Amino acid sequence: MAKVLLIILDGVADRALPELNGKTPLEAADTPTFDELAKEGINGIFYAIAPGIPPGSDTGHLAILGYDPIKVYTGRGVFEAAGVGIELKPGDVAFRGNLATVDENLTVLDRRAGRITEGTHELAAALSSIKLETAPDVEVIVKEATEHRVAVVFRGPSLSHRVSDTDPHKVGAKILECQPLEDSPQAQRTAQIVNEFMKRSHEILSSHPVNIQRAKEGKPPANIVLLRGPSIAMTIPSIEQRFSVKSAAIAAVALVRGVCKIAGMTTVEVPGADGSIYSKIENKGAAAVELLKTYDLVLIHIKGPDEASHDGDLEGKIKIIERADRMVSKMLDKIDAKLYLAITGDHATPLRVGDHTGDLVPLLIHGPGIIPDEVDEFCERAAMKGGLGQVRGLDLLPILLNYAGKMKKFGA
Ligand code: ZN
Ligand code: ZN
Repeated sequence: MAKVLLIILDGVADRALPELNGKTPLEAADTPTFDELAKEGINGIFYAIAPGIPPGSDTGHLAILGYDPIKVYTGRGVFEAAGVGIELKPGDVAFRGNLATVDENLTVLDRRAGRITEGTHELAAALSSIKLETAPDVEVIVKEATEHRVAVVFRGPSLSHRVSDTDPHKVGAKILECQPLEDSPQAQRTAQIVNEFMKRSHEILSSHPVNIQRAKEGKPPANIVLLRGPSIAMTIPSIEQRFSVKSAAIAAVALVRGVCKIAGMTTVEVPGADGSIYSKIENKGAAAVELLKTYDLVLIHIKGPDEASHDGDLEGKIKIIERADRMVSKMLDKIDAKLYLAITGDHATPLRVGDHTGDLVPLLIHGPGIIPDEVDEFCERAAMKGGLGQVRGLDLLPILLNYAGKMKKFGA
């Protein structure tokens, strides 16, 4: 049976850079494996959402997995929560949170509590024990993510994600009161719950042993949780329900892992893979080779190119692209199955912009029987000549699963 391997190089696409004599980082990078695959395969221009629309990594991956983000996306909180291992139920309202430092007037002194790394599990556990007085039927679930980040979930009847952030998004500002963003009892109730949580979390955290210890060490206390990005857990049919394929994903970044989890994919964490440009992506490749023995569809997400682009690190971007090329080369030596391989990105993150844009992203698809086009290099410029033309995220899985013989006939 044919297998499908989808490799997403986050933010890989870029623009013509003067310091590269008008080339892009992908063109400047030495990528013999990608180029060979492009030459033997079919190529195209990829837009995860639509031309000119800068995707987030969450909406971009939703679209790549075949879910229309315009229909299903309410915010990133639920994906972060799923990504850190909270099993969400429909109707849960999830926020992204920062452990932060405030003074006695609730003015933010440090949005990341000195980039706290130790004791976050204990702090999150203390917050999870909060029993709300205004809503005894609502459960509070808090789980630590990397550094100062936490996921906060409210579970109970009649909640709404249509409420405002409490995070003022700047130092020196007071924390904001949560307000309903629509005239509904659910939004009013949720805002009240959030405001009680803010008050209670400040009380609990202020006297927590972790913070008493931090004070002794002269470190800023993590004495509040700033909440943002409320979203509501939805029920969406899994990839298996839609396409009858078993799928797995390897993603170090909680946000992307969460999207894959919500799509019903088995998610695997790989030692040494941390989403940075130094990530041990070789271990991801090795893990994917194993997964392909049991799963029909495997996705590998590589965050490094996006990370480097946000940091304006041209050299880092080129290096991680080259390392991804070697990773794929090693993998191909070890895969025996009939394989359809796609390599693309969820969006462009041009270095000079330092953020996501709606520019074109190259897409290559390689596998037995595919008619090669004239493209002989994996890059933005060559992709413009590709035989696939322009492909959008929602079409990607059908194209791949069609080659792999897994799409059902439409009609008789
Ligand atoms: Zn991304
Ligand atoms: Zn990014």
